[in-house]
Amino acid sequence: MSNEIISDNTTINALPDIKSMPLPELTEAVVSLGEPKFRAKQLYEWMHKKMAGSYDEMTNIPKSLKEKLSNAYSFTSLQVVDVQESKLDETKKFLFGLSDGNVIESVFMKYKFGCSVCISSQVGCRMGCRFCASTIDGVVRSLLPGEMLDQIYAISRITGQKISHVVVMGSGEPLDNYDNLLKFIRMLTGEEGMNMSQRNLTVSTCGLVPKIRELAGEHFSINLALSLHASNQEKRQKLMPIANKYELSEVIDACKFYFDETGRQLTFEYSLVAGVNDTAEDAAELVDLLKGLNAIVNLIPVNPIKERNFAAPTRENALAFKNKLEKSGINVTIRREMGRDIDGACGQLRRRHLNEK
Ligand code: SAH
Repeated sequence: MSNEIISDNTTINALPDIKSMPLPELTEAVVSLGEPKFRAKQLYEWMHKKMAGSYDEMTNIPKSLKEKLSNAYSFTSLQVVDVQESKLDETKKFLFGLSDGNVIESVFMKYKFGCSVCISSQVGCRMGCRFCASTIDGVVRSLLPGEMLDQIYAISRITGQKISHVVVMGSGEPLDNYDNLLKFIRMLTGEEGMNMSQRNLTVSTCGLVPKIRELAGEHFSINLALSLHASNQEKRQKLMPIANKYELSEVIDACKFYFDETGRQLTFEYSLVAGVNDTAEDAAELVDLLKGLNAIVNLIPVNPIKERNFAAPTRENALAFKNKLEKSGINVTIRREMGRDIDGACGQLRRRHLNEK
C-alpha cells in the first residue's frame, strides 16, 4: 500500500462541483451570488430528485443564474464510455467518463426485491488486495460526493428504473474517502434528495479499523460489509496487505462495535480461491471466528483476473464450504455470479479499457 495523500477536496478542474454540495452549502452559494434562497431548493431538486443531466433541463431556473453558476462551479455529469449487457441476466456494467478524463465503472443489477446499483468510490484503489483488478495500478484519486451520486442518477436515467438499493462495492476503498462518503450518504438518504432508506445502502470495506469505529459513531442505519476473505491472520495477510496494518482480531472487534452501536446486521464477504482459503479447515476456522456474531457470510467464488493466478473452486467445493458453515448455524449465501460474462468483478472493465488504450 502506498502512502500518497488522497485529496478529499471537492473541486474538479479547479471549480467546486455543484452536485457535491449539500443543500445548506448550495443555499449559501446561491445567496452569495445575489439570488433568493428558494433557487437553491429548486436547483437541488433538479439535481438530486429529478436527476437532471445538465442546466438545460432546469426549465424554471433563469438563464442568468445558470450562466453565473456555470462560471463558478463545475457540474458533474457522467458520460457513458461503454456499456456491457449480460446475456445471462439483466446485469449491465457501465464505464463512465469523468470530467478530468478518468474512467470508473458501476453496475446495475435487477433482483426480485428491486434494482440495485454498485458504485465506485475512487478511481482505482490503493489497498492492494491480491485478487482484485481495481488495485493493480494503485489509486488515481477519490471520487467526489456528486460523482458517487451521479453513478446512480445516470443509471436510473438510462435504464428508466427506480433504484431502490445501493452498494458501495465497486472500485476503491470507501473508508479511504471518508469525508466524501459521509456527504454522499447524507445526500442520498436525505429527504430533500433521492430519500433512499439508509437500510438499503451497504458500504463494503477491506477493514480500516479506526474508520469502521468512526462510522459506527455516526449512528446511521446503513449496512456494513467487511471483506474478510480468510479466517486467520496469516492467510489474510497473504491476500490483503491491509491485514499487515490491522490484525484480524481488531477488525472483528470493530465490526462487533459497529453492530453494538447501530444494530445493523453484518455481512462478511469471503472470496473463495481454490486451494487458498476454501478447505474444510478454513470453514471450521471461520465458524469459530464468527461465533456469536449476528452475521451473514457472502461467499464469492473468485472472479479470475488475467493479471493473477487465482482460480475459483468447483461448484461442488463451494457448496461443501457453504454447507459446513450452515451446519454450524451461520447464515450463508453464495453470491450469484451476476454478469460473469461481462467483466463482472471489481475493476475488470476499466482495466480492459486502460489496457486497450
Ligand atoms: N474496497 C472495498 C470495496 C470494493 S471491492 C472492500 O474491500 O470491501 C468489493 C468486494 O469484491 C470486496 O469484498 C472485494 O474483496 C471483492 N473482490 C474484488 N475483486 C474480486 C474478484 N476478482 N473476485 C471476487 N471478489 C472480488
